[in-house]
Amino acid sequence: MFFGLKVDSVLRGYLRNSFCRVGACAVPRRKRTLGFRGTAQAPTLRRIYGMVRGLIDHPPRELVLLVLFFATPLSVSGEEIEGNIMTVDGPIAPSELGKALSHEHVLVDFIGASETGYERWDRETVAEVVLPHLLEIRNLGYQSLFECTPAYLGRDPQLLKMLSERSGIRLVTNTGFYGARKNIYIPAWALEASADALAEIWIQEFRNGIEDTGVRPGFIKIGVDRGERLTPFHAKLVRAACRTHLATGLTIASHTGPSEVVFEIAEILEEEGVSPDAFIWVHATRDSSENQIRAAKLGLWVSIDNLRENAILLNANVERLVALKAAGLLHRVLVSQDAGWYRPGEENGGAFAPYTFVERSLLPALSEAGFTQRDLDMLLIQNPAKAYAVSVRKRRD
Ligand SMILES: [Zn+2]
Repeated sequence: MFFGLKVDSVLRGYLRNSFCRVGACAVPRRKRTLGFRGTAQAPTLRRIYGMVRGLIDHPPRELVLLVLFFATPLSVSGEEIEGNIMTVDGPIAPSELGKALSHEHVLVDFIGASETGYERWDRETVAEVVLPHLLEIRNLGYQSLFECTPAYLGRDPQLLKMLSERSGIRLVTNTGFYGARKNIYIPAWALEASADALAEIWIQEFRNGIEDTGVRPGFIKIGVDRGERLTPFHAKLVRAACRTHLATGLTIASHTGPSEVVFEIAEILEEEGVSPDAFIWVHATRDSSENQIRAAKLGLWVSIDNLRENAILLNANVERLVALKAAGLLHRVLVSQDAGWYRPGEENGGAFAPYTFVERSLLPALSEAGFTQRDLDMLLIQNPAKAYAVSVRKRRD
């Protein structure tokens, strides 16, 4: 596995091979050194050779990133990733995704980063609670579900793999850190880490799998607090997510909520050279039609995703979806219900919200409002496949 090796040694090897390929070392190194002696060009050649050796032994950070970028195969372990969706069972073609719920949860542990851990739940017990809900949506024709619980908030790749096998529903997990709710789901050491250091952790999860599970993340999930401006740490999370995207092609989904900060995030994407269509504005649900349309016109994905048994919210969102359709922007919209989830520490995992509100309430209401089957397929089949396909999307100048 390319990135299972230490980056430094891989990079040195790569640089050496590259220089060899361009002819600087077509003969073994010892002979080359001897060859410099006694020629008029020797001092110049020696200087050039010294520079090349210096670069090989102490590559500057920019060169490391450049080489990593070009050397980064979007195929890891021989699997084709570019343009595909990375599920907990490996990559699949977007056409295999089928009808998908783009933002749901299997388990969420709200206890905080300092106390959460796999010992807080029993996988078999959780599976007993969650499996009937996954089977229910499978019977309704759904094939895939994006599980949006980040690390330190209850992400459990092994549990997801188990549930995917038992339910036949394809599950997708994530990398990234969730800063919303004033960083209580962020481990203390991460608050001081640089954007590059955070990105490196997430990139490694994509390359090598999460912990020792062999499960790779299919997107980047971060969370920021609402407000007029991002806090410095939340801006750093966004930058780290951008850098991870450029190195891996993973789409960024950010818990943002109804908030002006989504437009600040759009500016950071631009500064970092990331295309807006690599970003999903999670929980745009309660924001105004005006802001949703503005975001969709910028090219961001607008996620109408926390719908539950609430008639007022349902009617408001049908109106907003009608407005997005009228503006010709339905191709930038995702719908889901942000439902679930097993809550460790609560009796029998607490009250589980089924994954069926979209199917049973939203879709009939949209049909009544004039949405065609083609529109509904766009929201639940084509758009999730496009939004989550792994592909580096750079900002166009
Ligand atoms: Zn959520």
